[in-house]
Amino acid sequence: MAKKKKLTKGQQRRVSSNRKKRLSGNKEQAQVQWQADQLGAQEDGLIISRYGQHADVEDSNGEIFRCNIRRTAGSLVTGDKVVWRRGNEVLSGISGVIEAVHERVSELTRPDFYDGVKVVAANINQIFIVSSVVPAFSTQIVDRYLVASEDVEIKPIIVLNKIDLLDDEGRELLDEMLEPYRDIDYQVIMLSSKSGEGVDELNTLLKDNVNIFVGQSGVGKSSLINALMPEAELITGDISDTSGLGMHTTTTAKLLHFKDGGDLIDSPGVREFGLWHLDPERIAWCFVEFREFLGGCKFRDCKHLDDPGCILAQAVEDEKIDSERFDNYHRILESLDNNKPNRHPGGAN
Ligand code: GDP
Ligand code: ZN
Repeated sequence: MAKKKKLTKGQQRRVSSNRKKRLSGNKEQAQVQWQADQLGAQEDGLIISRYGQHADVEDSNGEIFRCNIRRTAGSLVTGDKVVWRRGNEVLSGISGVIEAVHERVSELTRPDFYDGVKVVAANINQIFIVSSVVPAFSTQIVDRYLVASEDVEIKPIIVLNKIDLLDDEGRELLDEMLEPYRDIDYQVIMLSSKSGEGVDELNTLLKDNVNIFVGQSGVGKSSLINALMPEAELITGDISDTSGLGMHTTTTAKLLHFKDGGDLIDSPGVREFGLWHLDPERIAWCFVEFREFLGGCKFRDCKHLDDPGCILAQAVEDEKIDSERFDNYHRILESLDNNKPNRHPGGAN
């Protein structure tokens, strides 16, 4: 496993040279075909990223190969575990063919203006909701991301970054604001990517998991990723290169390995995701502490506002549900009415 963590210089060169070939050889690549006797035995691989008709597959030694995707393989995204076969030679930059996809443990989806809900990554098992004290901590935003995480049924963990900017009093205040989340069993970690405080705790949580970082711009996601993955800078720089690969690659989710173990799937489209495809009932269900009460209101179509016999409102009254969470639930519903689907500049892949 240790071998897997880093791309060697040679591997990086190979990936980059494969990309260059791809630029010149797109048409040829689509036609690359090996005869059955030119392909090796089936082996397991991990999808590092997907580019249209091709995907980069990592083998068990951590080496990356650009492959064609057999039509019968089914849909395929970053994070998928696949069965592939390597060719006995590299043809137009293509090293092999992906034949099948293993069953997924999770699917990260995002609403897409044209295609409905789209799967953007597979097998993620932890979503780190990054928030910070600058810009001001907002439970509203945290709750939106919690709803999105519950909807895809992937475990969320709340990260409060930039705590180096707080004095003792500020920390206490923040701790109080986070209490309702701990009460409903969400894990909360406070840290500073700048001072390094709390980063070890984060590292421990990342290990052995496939993770994503989500959150508003400016909260420090990139800083955290750079702190945990010094070599990522090089790779990110490569991805955002606009010399022709641009549009295609920046929107493609990419899987990277943390230096101390664990994986990260990242792309602009992964870092933010919308809620407008969810209906109000689903959103209520995504507030975990509401679940035990759902279905118990006097009226079946209860809006949980000032409807008589609302069991949720009663639970708030009885302090079984945090009133701010309840307000945030209503704010999310309002935002669904106001926000018509719009295309994301960086993420409409
Ligand atoms: P992103 O948009 O979420 O990727 O945020 P960035 O990583 O680009 O960080 C936004 C700003 O916050 C930058 O100016 C960082 O230097 C700053 N920043 C990030 N982490 C910390 C931290 O732990 N403490 C402080 N004081 N500033 C931080
Ligand atoms: Zn109700």
